[in-house]
Parts: sequence; C-alpha cells; structure tokens
Amino acid sequence: MARFTNPSLDKLRDAVDIVDLINGYTDLRRAGSQYTGLCPFHEERTPSFSVNPTEKLYYCFGCQEGGDAIGFVQKAESLDFAQTIEWLADRYGVELEYEELDPKEAERQKQRERLYELLERATKFYERTLAESDEAGPAREYLKDRGFSPEVLAKFRVGYSPKAWDKLFVPALRQGFTEQELLAAGLAQRNDRGQIYDRFRGRVMFPLSDPRGRVRGFGARAMRDGDRPKYLNSADGPVYQKGRQLFGANHARSVAAKRGRVIAVEGYADVLALHDAGIEESVAVMGTAMTDEQVVELARLASRIYLALDADRAGRQAMIRAARVADRHGIELLVVDLPAGKDPADLIAEGGAEAFEDRVRKALTVVEFEIAQTLAAADLDSARGRDAAIAELQPIFELIPIGAVKDEQIRLVADKLKVSENALAGLRNVRVKHDRQAAGNAIVPGAAIPESEKSERLFFASCLSSRAVGPEYLEKLTNDLLSTPLMRELRDHLQKNFEKPLAGAASLKPELRDAVTEVAMLSERENASPKAIQLGFLQLEKAGLERALAGSAASDKAKIELKRQEVIKQLGELTAEFA
Ligand SMILES: [Zn+2]
Repeated sequence: MARFTNPSLDKLRDAVDIVDLINGYTDLRRAGSQYTGLCPFHEERTPSFSVNPTEKLYYCFGCQEGGDAIGFVQKAESLDFAQTIEWLADRYGVELEYEELDPKEAERQKQRERLYELLERATKFYERTLAESDEAGPAREYLKDRGFSPEVLAKFRVGYSPKAWDKLFVPALRQGFTEQELLAAGLAQRNDRGQIYDRFRGRVMFPLSDPRGRVRGFGARAMRDGDRPKYLNSADGPVYQKGRQLFGANHARSVAAKRGRVIAVEGYADVLALHDAGIEESVAVMGTAMTDEQVVELARLASRIYLALDADRAGRQAMIRAARVADRHGIELLVVDLPAGKDPADLIAEGGAEAFEDRVRKALTVVEFEIAQTLAAADLDSARGRDAAIAELQPIFELIPIGAVKDEQIRLVADKLKVSENALAGLRNVRVKHDRQAAGNAIVPGAAIPESEKSERLFFASCLSSRAVGPEYLEKLTNDLLSTPLMRELRDHLQKNFEKPLAGAASLKPELRDAVTEVAMLSERENASPKAIQLGFLQLEKAGLERALAGSAASDKAKIELKRQEVIKQLGELTAEFA
C-alpha cells in the first residue's frame, strides 16, 4: 500500500523541523548538540527525553520510546502512517505525490472522496441552518440552556436538520450527487415505495469526524418530544461504521497524549460540556455498548482510560468487558463513580470542572468498583441473597490474579457478607482470564524490552562510541552471544552502518528502527574505553554460555561449564584491574 512516492516522502522528511514539532508537546531545552525535555509519553519529573536535530530523531531513556518525526506524530496523535504523512505535509507545506493505484482501488478511493465531499456539504448545510433558520429557534434555545459556549458549538460543528423530507437531498441531486451516494453516505433512506427522503429531520446534528477531521457520519438528537429514537446515528456505510468511532477523538487527541489520560463518557452533550470546562481529553462512546474496537481506540489516545459512564446494568457489563480488553493490552482502566442519575454534564453544570475532577481523583479500578456496586445492591439479610451476591461476583474475581490483592478483596467480601472465607473458595480459585501474551502488545506503547536484551543494547551502544575497537567487537559477536533474532539483526545493521547507524533507519521495520535509534542515541552519551567494551563482551559471553547450558544435552554440559568458568575468571581479572 505504497501510497506516496518516495521523492515526496524524502521532501517531507527534509521539510520537518523536529525540534519545532516536538516543542508543541513538551518544552525542549538545548543541551550540547541535542535538545532535552520531559517525555510526552510517560510521566516524569526529570527530563530523560532527547531530540537530535541533525538526525531528526528522538529517544526517551525512561520509557525507551524513540524514532523519527513520522513515528513521533503517529504516536502523539495516534494516527496511522498515511494520516501522519498528510498531517505533516499540511503543517510543513509539502505537496505530496501519490503512487499510481490499481484501477479498482483508485475507483473505490474516488468514490469515498465523493462521500466525504457530500458529508462536508451536509455538515455546512446543517451548521448554516442552525445559525440562520427560524425553525432552528428551539434548537438554539436548547443548546443555550445546556450552557454550551458558541466556541464549543463551532469547534464541534454542531448543526440542525430541518423538519422537511427533502431539504438535503434535493439540492444534493442538483449538485450532481446520486441517490446511491446519498444512501451510501447515510444521509438518506428509502420508504416502502422506494422513494428517497432525508434520514435526519428536526434534529440537532453532531458530526462524527475521523482523525483527519473529515466528517464520516452524524449523531442526531430529536428536538420534538414525540420523535423516536431520541438519538439517531448515521446508517453504516463505506465511510461510517457503528461502534468504531469515538465522538470528539479528533479534538481530544493531542491533549490526551500530553496529559496521559482520556475520559470516556456516553453522550455528545457530556463531551461538549467537558471541553467547555477545559477537560479536552474527553470523548464519547455514543451509547453504553462500548465495543472492543473503541477500547483499543481509547488506548491509542492515552495509557490511562477513565470511564465516566452510567452505572446501570448495561453500563456495568460494558465496563467489565472493557476491563478484560484493557487487561489484555496492559492498559490502565479506571471507573469514575458518578452520583445516581447524574451525568458528567450535570456535574459540571452544578460544580464546574472541579466537581468532575474531584470524582476523577476518586476513580476506582473496575474490580473495586464492581465489588462495591455488587455489595451495595446485595440482600445481606438472607442466606439466599448472600449466595446470589457471591455468584454475581464470580466474573469479577476472574479479573484478579491470585495474590495479595485477591486475598484482600476476599476478606473484604467475607466481612461484608458475614460469611467465612471458606465459603468464598469458589471466588478465590476461579480461573483467571488473563491472556495478555496471546493478544500480543501491538498497541501497547513502550512494550517491555527483555532483560537479556538490555545488556546487549548497552553493549552495542558502547561499541558505537569507540571507533578504535567497536567494529572489531561487532565482528566477534556471534549469534550465540545474542539472545534474540532482533539483536542479531541489530548487529548486522550496525556492522554495515557503523559510521552512520541512523542512515536509512526510518525505512527499517519498527522494532529494528527503534532499537537502532536507541543504541545510536545511547552511544552519544557514552565514551567507552576498550577495557569497558571488553568487560561488556565477557558478560555477554557468560550470558550466552548460561543460555547454552540451559538448553544443552547432559553430555555437553561439562564442556560448556568449563568454558563458563574460564570466562568468569577473565571477568574477575578484568574487574580487579578496574578497581
Ligand atoms: Zn518516556
């Protein structure tokens, strides 16, 4: 899916000023030939984030995030590659050239572009109608009563769809769009007799935008009391699919990345109220049936997710499901306990941002929240009621691995229900559904580097810092001295590109690119002596022999152990020289 020509990507890379770019996310200060600052990807008090302006790369020594400007924007704005390229091209005024697509794909893309164009026109029409038409009077009144500022209404492009059946589609047909396109865009529908009419009528319109700010569909709130449903979304089509989007994500993205948290609420009104109150890292899931895709999308926005949803039964089921997805991906998910019958917009209307933040500070883990809710609702007076509560707690205890936390929760439940801990054996021994490994860590930022790799990476960095002996030691690094295939690829890359390890790094596969970036930037802080490099090499030899020992047949063990003893002796001698 090479969509951009290589010369235009090169032009873009040249045009980007990485210091200026990253300065928008964290304050950078010059330190020698580099810039440093607080890492925008993890919370820290002392700067461990550095930017190399000549190579146009960044690296964090705290969380091991690193890469080029494209990688930075992808991560900070949670965009995919193509979106990132277009975002940067906009910002640095670079005109992109696109590869020739195969004719079928080109045709599909052209069709999608037409739908975006149609949706954009519809958005403008609804905005204009809200601002100017007489019939939108009650809608304007409603929005004013809800306390939304004109700024936030403009930012979210809120509009109004007129009550008539044809105000949108007739002009659209006149502008050259087809009925098929109006249906595909989710703006029109057919009645039983096959006649086409506007899907949205007499409603306040909330456009749903994608990361690039293109409108893909609408959520619409009825203005007349009798109109059902009260909330109506676009029908699924080529550019809009239910449950895949988060309302407001395009406006929440950069703030969420900076603050390290994202707040998920149910409705459009909550998002608008939170943005108005300065809590701009807020998005809506649009209904309680939060999908796995939405949880993953939330996780791409920030590493800590706060759910401020209705605590009704459906809402709680959604939270437990979300907790499972989050757990698989190593994401922190907390529940904001809302007062009964109140949503975030109510809280803000009554007590401002502070009232909401206060609730956020007291957020609970899903497990704590569920246990508290179940116990609060349980009939503690009858044995049957207590058994029912225990049964209800079962799926919650599946979320807790065996350990001190689980024991503590068991004690708490036993105490509340006035039963012995023995009676809760079923909760204690429940099989923990915990398949983090199986799920992989594709979306988890800064996935943990294996311990063995850490010393290998440091060794590569010290090799790079020494022109005198570095290349020689890289030659001596045989496969058995490196613990993972990635480290072997890293060695190969560094052997070939010793003088300029970062040359061409951007086009490597992501793990290798990150590893190259890391060791290259680590090496600039190093000035390893030949002795230190020798010491590092012996340590890798020792680790390699220990791995061999673990995986070898009994008959070979003695020979390997002998070698290991020899290496330990050399290590001892060398360390003594250092002392
Ligand atoms: Zn960091």
